[in-house]
Amino acid sequence: MTEHSNSDSKLDAQLHKEKMQKQKEKVDANIAAANIERGIALLLTGNGKGKTSSAFGMVFRALGYQQKVGIVQFIKGAQESGEVNFIREHCPQVFIHQMGTGFTWNTQDKVADIKASEATWEIAQSLLQDDSYDLVILDELTYMLGYKYLDRDTVINSIKARPYEQSVVVTGRGGGRELREVMDTVSDVKNIKHAYKAGVKARKGVDC
Ligand code: ATP
Ligand code: MG
Repeated sequence: MTEHSNSDSKLDAQLHKEKMQKQKEKVDANIAAANIERGIALLLTGNGKGKTSSAFGMVFRALGYQQKVGIVQFIKGAQESGEVNFIREHCPQVFIHQMGTGFTWNTQDKVADIKASEATWEIAQSLLQDDSYDLVILDELTYMLGYKYLDRDTVINSIKARPYEQSVVVTGRGGGRELREVMDTVSDVKNIKHAYKAGVKARKGVDC
């Protein structure tokens, strides 16, 4: 190595060190500033794939700390999913409820659909009032708001009034400005592309 390139690499190492020191100061300051300990309300929305699977990622995180988890799915419940199969088989400590039959996206019996979503909401609400739950997942709840099957203010007030230490995850496209405002963390999963559009069938372990 020439003398010149040797001093170049020394300078480079010094600059890198200074940059990293500054970055560390910033990171440390941000960590010190975030000192509130409480449950978090999280909304996973958007048209891209990854909302429900992310929510279940958090289920497994919480279980890793022996936390109590409750899951309510506002969907038909007819389509099988690997995450629900796994929880039913291996996680008896997890409360899980699906809206079940009586609901169709192509609404044919609106009265029955509203009844089913209200009954499911009752269960969701009981979890949001129970401080023994560390994490509550309300999967596809946004559609109940979009269809106006559930009262938006009732849902928002229950999320706001939940136990201080409880975290709640809501998934689904849309949801509206009022819901976004009440949530602490909002992620909008953007659709860049999806295999389905290229004709690839929903894949077990990936899509369901
Ligand atoms: P996942 O359950 O895989 O995390 P998601 O919750 O973000 O997906 P949903 O709208 O609930 O999305 O739809 C679930 C199913 O629809 C999955 O099989 C998923 O792969 C598929 N899907 C999600 N987004 C898209 C999309 N933009 N185009 C086509 N299919 C999609
Ligand atoms: Mg989903």
